[in-house]
Amino acid sequence: MSKPIVVKVGGSAGINYDFVCDDVAALVREGQRIVLVHGGSHELNLLSEKLGKPPRFLTSPQGFTSRYTDAETLDLFAMVYAGKMNTRIVERLQKRGVNAVGLSGLDGRLLEGPRKASVRAVIDGRQVLVRDDYTGRVEKVNRDLLSLLLEHGYTPVISPPACSTEGEAINVDGDRAAAMIAAALSADQLIILSNVPGLLRYFPDESTLIPELRYANLEQALGFAEGRMKKKVLGASEAIAGGVRQVVFGDARIERPILNAMQGRGTVIRA
Ligand code: ADP
Repeated sequence: MSKPIVVKVGGSAGINYDFVCDDVAALVREGQRIVLVHGGSHELNLLSEKLGKPPRFLTSPQGFTSRYTDAETLDLFAMVYAGKMNTRIVERLQKRGVNAVGLSGLDGRLLEGPRKASVRAVIDGRQVLVRDDYTGRVEKVNRDLLSLLLEHGYTPVISPPACSTEGEAINVDGDRAAAMIAAALSADQLIILSNVPGLLRYFPDESTLIPELRYANLEQALGFAEGRMKKKVLGASEAIAGGVRQVVFGDARIERPILNAMQGRGTVIRA
């Protein structure tokens, strides 16, 4: 059997999930095993606004941003990610004849890692410690559970939250979780799809797409990435370090997003 491919589709505005699911179905029909990981940030922002709890973000001293996830936000997070987004993606795949199984990182401790005791953030130029944040980082993937599904012809569709070491639901970065999954499955490639054509040297100028990157230059590439794009570069670096042959940042707004990325359209990262 071919090595699996891990596809991460983001949650930002403009992403076309129908196009993504068309490609997953085409590949699965050809016998390719796929694990699909998804986000939901835009939908979560919309729901949070609607419910009168506008999203808040924390910026670390290193310049990484993350959603401030207190217990109430975590409920909304689960509603959108493990609820609406996951269900609708599984539905799209079922309509296309793919027997998809939706799971959050809590199911079977699929994505596990420690919850951060506190998060250091910069607010109004001052460093503060935030303690009621339910966030963490995936350190362990339940590979057996994924292999079991893949070997029986199911297509796993996975989203955060993850499971903390103590069994709590925690918000984790989807790109880095996908990187851990790809490494755990010894995937051939990790395809990270979003609402941009790839990593842009001068964001948002799409004509400045970086077509190729080497692992050794990722540190430097981190300098071009702003905000949440930084996590994708970090995820790419973790996947390659974990033995994944190739990572591609591709565009999920266009038709054939996965096939295009597999053919090298986007930013291709190799060891
Ligand atoms: P998703 O939720 O789809 O995974 P994110 O919003 O987390 O995507 O990250 C993608 C976003 O990163 C883009 O929409 C863009 O606004 C931002 N970004 C910041 N710097 C860059 C860059 N250098 N190249 C491409 N996108 C960038």
